[in-house]
Amino acid sequence: MSAKVYLVGAGPGAADLLTLRAARVLERADIVFHDALVAPQTLAIAERATKIAVGKRSGRNSTAQRFINKQLIDAARRHAVVVRLKGGDPMLFGRAQEEIDALTKAGIEFEVVPGVTAACAASAAVGVSLTRRGMARTACLITPRSAEGEPENDWAAGVVAADTAVIYMGAGLSESICATLLARGQAGGTPVAVVENATLPAQRVLLGKLRDLPRIAQEIGPGPAVIILGEVLRQAVDARIFREKGNPRRCAGRM
Ligand code: SAH
Repeated sequence: MSAKVYLVGAGPGAADLLTLRAARVLERADIVFHDALVAPQTLAIAERATKIAVGKRSGRNSTAQRFINKQLIDAARRHAVVVRLKGGDPMLFGRAQEEIDALTKAGIEFEVVPGVTAACAASAAVGVSLTRRGMARTACLITPRSAEGEPENDWAAGVVAADTAVIYMGAGLSESICATLLARGQAGGTPVAVVENATLPAQRVLLGKLRDLPRIAQEIGPGPAVIILGEVLRQAVDARIFREKGNPRRCAGRM
């Protein structure tokens, strides 16, 4: 049997942000291995498929990842159309490369179907472009989290060097992110947005300044969230401060 494993992006949350290509692959799927955060309506498209939930929200350990790799390989030996459905885009912070490497080593064909990543969903939620002519020509996608045993990397250097930064998996680390960036010379007045549950009914946008990030982050709930930093947000942040009658301490709030 010539099987193929599709690594498919499910998008950031809203079911109608799935691509047509992803929907067509799901319709043909025999088996779908999906992340915890994928919308039920998206899974429902894979009518004929066996659905298997794999992966935790975060902190998935390498043994679990090895098990997922093995499940994909085993499934490809039994089925023609195997789908690995991941939140957002599969090629960003989704451990796709480990799966691709395992499939390649096992001689199994694969194809990647891109999805809307959280950074794009969050930028849409705030209504602010991540790049802007004359102001922001670099946007970096970054996470301060490293896997167990992974060498430290200088994520903060990327944030400081970029015009705009979008930090994934960082909402729970706001205090250390703030302290690290301030220590590296990032201005405390850098505008920030924390976007939780982008594109979902529970979407929240909190705006403020980098120095207030730990307090802003306390207001967010348990949903997935990204932190956006950069001058592109200044107008939005200032407008909120103005609306709150000039009291910057009240600038974080629902939008
Ligand atoms: N591959 C995914 C990212 C997986 S890492 C993508 O391309 O978007 C998981 C992190 O993504 C979360 O911790 C959070 O930082 C971010 N994220 C995912 N969905 C989100 C959403 N709807 N709103 C805000 N952040 C989200």
